[in-house]
Amino acid sequence: MAKKQFKAESKRLLELMINSIYTNKEIFLRELISNASDALDKRHYLSLTDKTQKVSKKDLTIRIERNKTDRQLIIEDTGIGMTGEEMEKNLGTIAKSGSAEFRAQLEKAAKNIDIIGQFGVGFYSAFMVARKLTVESRAAHSEQGYRWVSTGEDGYTVSEIDKPEIGTKIIIDLKEDTDDEKYSEYLEEYKIRDMVKKYSDYVRYPIIMQVTKSIPDPTDENKTIDTYEDETLNSMIPLWKKAKSKIKPEEYNEFYKSKYSDWKDPQKVIHYSVEGNLSYTALMFIPSETPYNFYYADYEPGLQLYSKGVFILDKAKDLLPDHYRFVTGLIDSDDLNLNISREILQQDRQVKALAKSIEKKIHGALADMLKDDREGYEKFFDNFGLSLKYGIYRDYGIHKQDLQDLIIFRTSKEGKYATLKEYTDRMPADQKAIYYACGSSPEEIEKLPSLGKLREKGYEILYFLDERDELVSDIMRTYEDKPFKSVNKGDLDLETEDEKKAKQELEEQNKDLLETMKDSLGGKVREVRISSRLKDDPVCLVSDENGVSLEMEKLLSRDPNHSGFKASKILEINPDHAIFAKLQELKEKDPEALKEYTDVLFQQALLIQGLEIEDPVAYAKKIVDLMLK
Ligand code: ADP
Repeated sequence: MAKKQFKAESKRLLELMINSIYTNKEIFLRELISNASDALDKRHYLSLTDKTQKVSKKDLTIRIERNKTDRQLIIEDTGIGMTGEEMEKNLGTIAKSGSAEFRAQLEKAAKNIDIIGQFGVGFYSAFMVARKLTVESRAAHSEQGYRWVSTGEDGYTVSEIDKPEIGTKIIIDLKEDTDDEKYSEYLEEYKIRDMVKKYSDYVRYPIIMQVTKSIPDPTDENKTIDTYEDETLNSMIPLWKKAKSKIKPEEYNEFYKSKYSDWKDPQKVIHYSVEGNLSYTALMFIPSETPYNFYYADYEPGLQLYSKGVFILDKAKDLLPDHYRFVTGLIDSDDLNLNISREILQQDRQVKALAKSIEKKIHGALADMLKDDREGYEKFFDNFGLSLKYGIYRDYGIHKQDLQDLIIFRTSKEGKYATLKEYTDRMPADQKAIYYACGSSPEEIEKLPSLGKLREKGYEILYFLDERDELVSDIMRTYEDKPFKSVNKGDLDLETEDEKKAKQELEEQNKDLLETMKDSLGGKVREVRISSRLKDDPVCLVSDENGVSLEMEKLLSRDPNHSGFKASKILEINPDHAIFAKLQELKEKDPEALKEYTDVLFQQALLIQGLEIEDPVAYAKKIVDLMLK
């Protein structure tokens, strides 16, 4: 029989599994039982929707067998099974391995076993304890059984077999015991019992194992004899149907990890029931880390949907608004139709109401976390804040009202996070706007010349560290009637009436100078004017109140389709800086030099703002020429 090779990524992962030094190897059983339970879910659903596939609920089981003589542990289910082709597809490659990201992570992960769970590679975890793995399966709708065999490293074989029953049987030939690892423990009754209780108690199908029972010997009352009988090891109550007060945090964590392919405990559990027109129970989770593919096309958001405890749909994304796409988990409703399909889901009125209710609850849970667990919330926001911000500006801002109190920004107040409410609540009485500055780091922002006067007045600045932050403020426009104002845009509205008048006069007196400077820049700026935002620095660049901002110009310049978009720029000069007097002097005595100076100041302003200058060589030469004068 020809051996087939695993796909490249699978191979690397297998090596990792086989040579795993991970201490928690026993989770392999959780993973296999979880797969069996999923397969049973699918068969159960099929039996309810397809008359030719009837099966009685009591025949949907998971069976564990121990064979000490052969060192074999066997896990058998009566689930949906796999065809030969499905075996190739599901077991020959890692389902989620397509992305380049996966490969990159794998390279980094040579010694970091954390990778195992991150990518949903449940089945492969069996290789942590198996010398050889055999999978025998027959799919519903099929007469033919198949056997898949692999020792991991040198590929696998698939062959046809007779298999009377629909379902899947996994045979693990355990590795030899070593000084550190006693694999034979997995053949002990107590060990399996413990593992099932610990990791799989809530599985809704019986996990049956033959156990030993000692009974008194009828012929000798001082003796007992061993008998064998089947026992269901798990309590079978789905976790979400248990009373919240009866569930330990570990139970939630184990449930989450086994069902949603994560290696780490969730950051937050959202568990509740709603009674009413549409009754349902939700058990949802927020992961404690951003899934590796969260920002890639292959990330599939959505909640699992159950009706009356019967699994209906995986990844039902219509139940979850896009801005909460980081939430995973399940919804179980007795009021939903079993025949609901993805298409119906989109139009169904009940489903729409359900989705609204879920959205509200997630909102509530996040708002509570923000209030009661600030540190946790900030960690959550570092992971998923982008989704919330995206929620604000997408769809023309229809969700902005809902989400505006969930977003946080770092600010000039010790660089810490603040909500918009916190920011506006502590604004000085004379502050009229919410001021923000864009930049790639707090340090970079703090150096911006345009912060001078704002700092003097003690105004707090929101740090817009993400390129998309300005989209958020653009679509929001105001928060509690306070407008958002970029420190590098338009008029900051900082002066008193008297100050305004004085500035106007100054501008009037220097009209010629300002005009000359503008003309010498030949259309690169819309205006040269006296600044009211500068304190210690000579000049700064700002953009028009409306239109493309300097930040947006930077962003768009990287996009070949939009690189033509330019901000309408204004060069501001600090009238209190020594350079101003110098410029006034040159205007009278050396108009040529004024031209040079203006150009240098303009280019410096561009650089400070992180914008490119047209000809760095010419600029450098100009500076040297000035030095030599
Ligand atoms: P995941 O469960 O995260 O998809 P696995 O590697 O554990 O990843 O399993 C890969 C696929 O193999 C599953 O998605 C399923 O289609 C199939 N599979 C695994 N175990 C079984 C089983 N007991 N019965 C039917 N199909 C199974």
